[in-house]
Amino acid sequence: MSQDNGTNGLRVAIVGSGPAGVYAADALLKQAESVGGVEVDILDRLPAPYGLVRYGVAPDHLKIKSIALALKKVFEKPGVRFIGNIELGRDVSVEELQQTYDAVIIASGAAVDRRLGIDGEDLPGSFSATDFVAWYSGHPDAALDAFTLGARSIVVVGVGNVAVDVVRILAKTVDELKHTDLPDHVLDVLDASNVTDIYMLGRRGPVQAKFTTKELRELGELADADVIVDPEELQLDAASEEALADDRALRQNLEVLREWSTRKPEGKSRRIHMRFLLRPVEVTGEDVVTGVTVERTALDGSGGAKGTGETFDIDAQMVFRSVGYKGIPVPGLPFDDRNGVVPHDAGRVMQDGGQMPGLYVAGWIKRGPTGVVGTNKGDANETVASLFADADKLPRAAERDPQALLDQLAGKGCRPVLWEGWCAIDEAEMALGKAQGRDRIKIAELEAMLIASGWRED
Ligand code: NAP
Repeated sequence: MSQDNGTNGLRVAIVGSGPAGVYAADALLKQAESVGGVEVDILDRLPAPYGLVRYGVAPDHLKIKSIALALKKVFEKPGVRFIGNIELGRDVSVEELQQTYDAVIIASGAAVDRRLGIDGEDLPGSFSATDFVAWYSGHPDAALDAFTLGARSIVVVGVGNVAVDVVRILAKTVDELKHTDLPDHVLDVLDASNVTDIYMLGRRGPVQAKFTTKELRELGELADADVIVDPEELQLDAASEEALADDRALRQNLEVLREWSTRKPEGKSRRIHMRFLLRPVEVTGEDVVTGVTVERTALDGSGGAKGTGETFDIDAQMVFRSVGYKGIPVPGLPFDDRNGVVPHDAGRVMQDGGQMPGLYVAGWIKRGPTGVVGTNKGDANETVASLFADADKLPRAAERDPQALLDQLAGKGCRPVLWEGWCAIDEAEMALGKAQGRDRIKIAELEAMLIASGWRED
């Protein structure tokens, strides 16, 4: 049982209410007795919890989306509070948190996209997949009119699961998407889409692609999109054969791709071109994107690929780079800029070889943007095990009143949204959905979310 008098056990703040943060809270509560109780406050910069489960997992992946129900149960446990709409660095500092919490776990994720570093990358019409995902997920950071789909031909660079999500959302019909929680403004744009051809580019071979088989397969099962694979681009080198021998998932991916390479297009309205061994060299166009110049690559026998010097252009009016996420520095913590993570030892934040007392990390900001939602459970457990092992020597917060942080935030004019506020947003979204025979329609604008949460200006 967690204690509730705010004086004896551990007081822990978790920054980030995505899977890593919530799994960390759950792990803390499960062993709370060993330290005389634990009180956990989970902060998030948005008024809504669940991080990438709400704003990253594709809207049509309902089973993964339903992880939110399991995360919700953690928030409903005694001893846990949600404090949304509060941003670390803007509204509160790590130092301030340490005045009211014995330990702080940062689980703020990896917020920005990696870049290609090629000419034309910033031309109008060239976007990051991260921005597109945020937009179609109804993230309050994304302007409602951030995207239109006037393009006929779109290049998606990268062959990871995010690229697969982006390609699938672009290729699906609105009928295949309208049962999801996609906001109306997104469905309207998808409905008016002119897209006929989507090119997904892998710079290495099919065996080196990062997507998983289940996600890949879905691309071959769409109502109105053919998938086209050139058998020439599925050829393997010794390193690929070796990797296949050890990995069933890679063999399954290749099986799927080989089957697709034998398919004859059925004349559907859209075509997904899965291309391998092509490296983007330049996004072309004078004032707007008109194409992508790519260089043919060849596998180098050791898992990599080298340029062949042969280049050609792919016609495109829109480009998405989907080449991975990157963490951004956490104000007040050291940062490993190369890897986009906070340096740590089993979750303990490290600076100049020494531990920063009371500070921990979990999730993508700790290990980088890898793995699936469930990966965060083991990751959070490791961090919490370190925290419990340190429990006796944690610097104890001087201020132990659970109300103290809220008072401090109110004094700064911040507008924290607590669990009841989020529940009100949740209900409002479900009511919007009900009116259209859908489970939920997301509220995409911050102010509208705050109004739905019950916030009123004095
Ligand atoms: P990712 O899995 O790391 O894939 C990034 C892709 O970008 C790779 O194909 C990579 O190729 C390519 N790339 C990187 N730099 C490039 C460059 N300069 N030019 C061309 N290609 C380049 O990243 P992600 O797709 O963003 O996914 C992040 C994590 O979220 C992954 O763990 C993913 O599985 C997970 N996720 C899971 C799901 C799901 O389970 N349904 C959905 C979405 C995301 P190289 O390998 O050659 O570097």
